[in-house]
Amino acid sequence: MRRLLLFVALAALVVAGAVWVADRPGQISIVWQGWRLDTSVAILLILTAALALLFALGLRFLGWLVRIPRRWRRWARERRRRRGYQALTVGMVAVAAGDPEEARRQARRADVLLDEPPLTMLLSAQAAQLNGDEAAARRYFTAMLDRRETEFLGLRGLLMQATRTGDSAAALELARRARRLRPDTPWVLTTLFELEARAGHWREAEATLAEAQRRSILPVAEARHRRAAVLLEQARAAEVDGRSRDASDLAARAHDEDRAFVPATVAYVRLLGAAGRTRKAERVAEKAWSLAPHPDLAAAYAALAPEGDPVGAAQRMERLAGALPGHIESRMVQATAALRAGLWGEARQKLEAVVAERPTARAYGLLAEVEEGENADPAAAQRWLRLAAEAPASEAWTCTSCGSVAPAWSIVCPACGGVDGLRWQAPARSPLLPRPAEEPAAAPTADAPNP
Ligand SMILES: [Zn+2]
Repeated sequence: MRRLLLFVALAALVVAGAVWVADRPGQISIVWQGWRLDTSVAILLILTAALALLFALGLRFLGWLVRIPRRWRRWARERRRRRGYQALTVGMVAVAAGDPEEARRQARRADVLLDEPPLTMLLSAQAAQLNGDEAAARRYFTAMLDRRETEFLGLRGLLMQATRTGDSAAALELARRARRLRPDTPWVLTTLFELEARAGHWREAEATLAEAQRRSILPVAEARHRRAAVLLEQARAAEVDGRSRDASDLAARAHDEDRAFVPATVAYVRLLGAAGRTRKAERVAEKAWSLAPHPDLAAAYAALAPEGDPVGAAQRMERLAGALPGHIESRMVQATAALRAGLWGEARQKLEAVVAERPTARAYGLLAEVEEGENADPAAAQRWLRLAAEAPASEAWTCTSCGSVAPAWSIVCPACGGVDGLRWQAPARSPLLPRPAEEPAAAPTADAPNP
């Protein structure tokens, strides 16, 4: 609109000027170097205007010519950038697809084309790792630490390298630095917790756990279970140091955090018993039995009474089993106590009920004992033992990460170093077969030829 107004105003001015000149006719003569020009004022004005226009157009054209190199440079830069980003993308895809040669080629291309180290360093590091060049990858990751925008990525790369090579001290240091940078990243806190637990820094591990819980990184039940595990390890350390009072307090706290966590209950019951608080220990065990019946808990309960009175012991175990009647572990407890008291008929009846529900090596083994004790019949015992060998594996402290069986619960798996991975469950293979340590982890065992 404004342009239109301006145009109309200009046109009006030009017309007014033309009219003004036309109203005042006159001649102009120019003599120059033997040339003579006679013309009217109007023609001269038109000529001057035409010349000015030509001059302006010429200037514009010159400016356009002058700017050509700059425009070309900009266009070339754009093209380079585009190709650099393309190389970056193709390189990332190659990393994801596990193509080391292509990844390295594209990383080098991106590095040359894009003058942006933060973007290309990660790809270069990943390509180096894919090519098995860990030293080069470490150099890239370390260089990334110097820039604020890539520091976290560099830390992550170095941390994963340290974890793979088993350098726990370096890994712990890197994880702490990562937490300072980004404390609300879930993997940072969970990794830090695992490293602290593996190093036995129980108080730090507890604090990390509290922070993870505060930031809602861990579900409440999971966080409480892990706290119970850490407290139990502290209780064990205190017991080893001879601080039995502390050990008992810590075990009590562990038991409170997770009532279904058997190792904590067992430790608490045992420590209460050692302090002479048998009645309280029994109450804790009976209550816990209804939540999580377990042979270790039964053993701790049995150990609360003095030895030498098998019939009394059988009565006590009836009381424990009464907390969760009908459960397979309760029946196992009753059968074991009956067996120890020489009540063969009752033991056999309970055990046969157990194997009817779930045939386990443990139950078959006890049936063999009944056979030996009641009838002194080694052949019958052998039959039960053969069944025991063929039965599905009994539950044991099995690592959910590496699948190996640990002799007792601990927060760190003795085989693979996994944290809080041991669960009371049947291992994938019978413990009667060769131990997994003797052969490659992934080797199928069922197909192994028999010698
Ligand atoms: Zn393991």
